Amino acid sequence: MLKSYGYAAYDPKTPLRSFHFERRQPGPRDVRIEIQYCGVCHSDLHQARDEWHGSTFPMVPGHEIVGKVVEVGAEVRAFKVGDLAGVGCMVDSCGVCPDCQDHQEQFCNQSVYTYNSPDKHTGKMTYGGYSNQIVVDQDFVLHVSDKLNLAAVAPLMCAGITTYSPLRHWKVGKGDKIGIVGLGGLGHMGVKFAHAFGAEVVLFTTSPDKAADAKRLGAHQVVISKNAEDMAKHQQSFDFILNTVAAPHDLDQYLALLKRDGTMCLVGVPSEPHPSPNVGNLIFKRRALAGSLIGGIKETQEMLDFCAEHNIVSDIELIPMEGINDAYERMLKSDVKYRFVIDMATLKA
Ligand code: NAP
Ligand code: ZN
Repeated sequence: MLKSYGYAAYDPKTPLRSFHFERRQPGPRDVRIEIQYCGVCHSDLHQARDEWHGSTFPMVPGHEIVGKVVEVGAEVRAFKVGDLAGVGCMVDSCGVCPDCQDHQEQFCNQSVYTYNSPDKHTGKMTYGGYSNQIVVDQDFVLHVSDKLNLAAVAPLMCAGITTYSPLRHWKVGKGDKIGIVGLGGLGHMGVKFAHAFGAEVVLFTTSPDKAADAKRLGAHQVVISKNAEDMAKHQQSFDFILNTVAAPHDLDQYLALLKRDGTMCLVGVPSEPHPSPNVGNLIFKRRALAGSLIGGIKETQEMLDFCAEHNIVSDIELIPMEGINDAYERMLKSDVKYRFVIDMATLKA
C-alpha cells in the first residue's frame, strides 16, 4: 500500500485536521497523480458535516483535483509521467449499463465517488483530494491543458461540469434568456458558460455586493432576489433557469419567471427539502422543474477542452490546507469569491 496523508473530517462537528492513510498501489490501468490543487465544493461541507446523512468517518473530502502524473500502470496509454491531469467527482462505474454505454457514468447505479464511497479495490471507503496523491483508473482521469492557470482549472472538475452539462443538455445558446441563481462556485461558472454560449444572462443573487463581479463575469443583468419589484419585471421571460442554491428556498418565485415550456434545473442539494412548489406555476405554462448531476467523463473532457479554447477558468481564492475550516465558515455566509482552492504545497506530512 501507498502511505498517504491529507486532511480529514473525523466526525460531523470537529474541524478537519491532519490524517494519515493508505492508498492502493497503482495497478496496470491506474494513474498516480501528485495533487497540486484541490477546489472546495459546497458538497464537501455538506458531507463533512453529514448533512446528507450518508457520511463515513474519517472522511477526506475533495473532488476538484488537479496535479501531475507521477506513475502509470503497464496498460496506460493515454497518460505519461509528467502530464497534467485532473480528477472530478467519480473514480469508477460498472462500464456496461445503459448509462455507462451512453457516457453518462454519473447515473450508473454502481458509480464510485471520489470520496465517501465504497472502494471496489480496497473494500474501504474512497478518500478524496484534500491529500498529497491519488490513484485512479485511467478511464476516470482527465487531460488538463497547460495553457491555463492550473489552480483555477481545479474547480472545473465539479463546478465546471455541473453547470456546463445542463446548459448543453437544454441547448442554451444565442437568442435564449437564461437565469443563474446564486453566485457561488457553481453559479459563477454557470454565468461564464451561459455567456460563452451566446445567451442573455441574468444573475439572481441574495448578495447585493456581488453585482459588479457578476457583470464582470458575464451577466448582462443582476437581480437582487429579495426585491419583488425587480423580480416582477422578469415574469414569464426566461427560457431556462439554472438554480445553484445550497439551501432550501421558495422555488415559485423563479418558476413564475419562466416562459411557456421553460425549464428550471436544480443542481443545489440542500440538506432539507425546498418548500413544495405551487403546481399551478407548472401546469398553466407547461413549465418543467428538473435536476442534473455533474456530467459524464466524455463531456467533462469536452468541457475542459472548451475552457482551454475559450480561456475560461474559475475565479479563485487560493488558501493553505490549514485554512479549510475558515473557508467552510465563509462559504456558509455566501462569502465565497468564487471558489476556494487549496494549495497542496502547504499540506504538511
Ligand atoms: P456555494 O459556493 O456555497 O454557492 C452557493 C450560493 O448560493 C451562495 O454563494 C449564495 O449566492 C447562494 N445562496 C446561499 N444561501 C442561499 C439562500 N438561503 N437563499 C438563496 N441563495 C442562497 O456552493 P456551490 O459549491 O456552488 O454548491 C451549490 C450547491 O450545489 C450545493 O448544495 C452543492 O452540494 C451542490 N452541488 C451539486 C452538484 C450536482 O451535481 N448537482 C455538484 C456540485 C455541487 P448569492 O450570494 O449570490 O446569493
Ligand atoms: Zn462538487
